[in-house]
Amino acid sequence: MTALALTGVRFRYHPDSTDIINIKSFDMNRGERVFMFGPSGSGKTTLLGLIGGLFLPANGIVKVLGSDVSTMGHGARDQFRSREIGFIFQVFNLVPYLNVLDNVTLPCRFGRRVSSGFADATVEARFLLKQLGIASVTNSSVASLSIGQQQRVAAARALIGSPGLIIADEPTSALDADSRTEFLSVLFAQAKREGSSILFVSHDKSIAGQFDRSVGLADINNAPGRAGGDL
Ligand code: ADP
Ligand code: MG
Repeated sequence: MTALALTGVRFRYHPDSTDIINIKSFDMNRGERVFMFGPSGSGKTTLLGLIGGLFLPANGIVKVLGSDVSTMGHGARDQFRSREIGFIFQVFNLVPYLNVLDNVTLPCRFGRRVSSGFADATVEARFLLKQLGIASVTNSSVASLSIGQQQRVAAARALIGSPGLIIADEPTSALDADSRTEFLSVLFAQAKREGSSILFVSHDKSIAGQFDRSVGLADINNAPGRAGGDL
C-alpha cells in the first residue's frame, strides 16, 4: 500500500492569487524515507499542510495511507491527522500548559493507538523520551526546555503509536551537525520499528544522503514562479 499519493493537486491561499502548489503526481511507498528540499518560500510547509489536511486543495486528490484526506470534513481531517500522521511542525506546537509527558501522549488522547509491546501511552512515551536522550525532563514544563529539547519532545509526540506517515518540517534547522545526525538516527530507528514512512522537508541538502530518496520540490511542482528553485 502507498503511504502517500498526490494526484493533480493545486492550491493557492487566496482565490485571486497564483498557485503555490501544482503537482501532477507524487507517491511514497510504505516505509519509504523521502527527503524533500527547496529554498525558503518554495511551498514546502504549504505542501505538508495539504498532506496533513490542515487545508484543502482547490483541485486534486491527497491520499494518505489509502484515505482521501481532501474529501474529509474539518473534524474528520483533524481526527485522521491525530491518529495516522506524526507531524513535527516547523514551529513545534507543543502545548505550553502541559508537561513533557502529557505533550507526548497527547495524540493517544485523540485516538491514536499505542505501539505493540507497550502497556499504555505513558509507558511508550517514557521509552521514546529515553531513546531521544531526554528522560530527565519527562515531568518538566515544556516552557523550561531548550530548543533542542523541544525538538525532541515534538519528535516523541510524532513517533508515539508508530503512525504510518511521519511528516517533519525542517526539524533539524536549530541543531548543530552532531545533534542533527543523532536526531536523525533516533527518528529512523523508531520509524523502522513499525515500518513508518517519513517525509522530511528541509532546505539543508547536507543530510539528503541519509534518506532512501531525495526530491526537489521544484521538480514536482509546476506552480508558476516556483519551478527551478534550488539550494
Ligand atoms: P517554505 O516552507 O518552502 O518556506 P511556505 O509553504 O511557507 O514555503 O510558503 C510558500 C509561499 O506561500 C510563500 O510565498 C509564502 O509567503 C506563502 N504563504 C505561506 N503561508 C501563507 C498564508 N497563510 N497566507 C498567504 N500566503 C502564505
Ligand atoms: Mg517552511
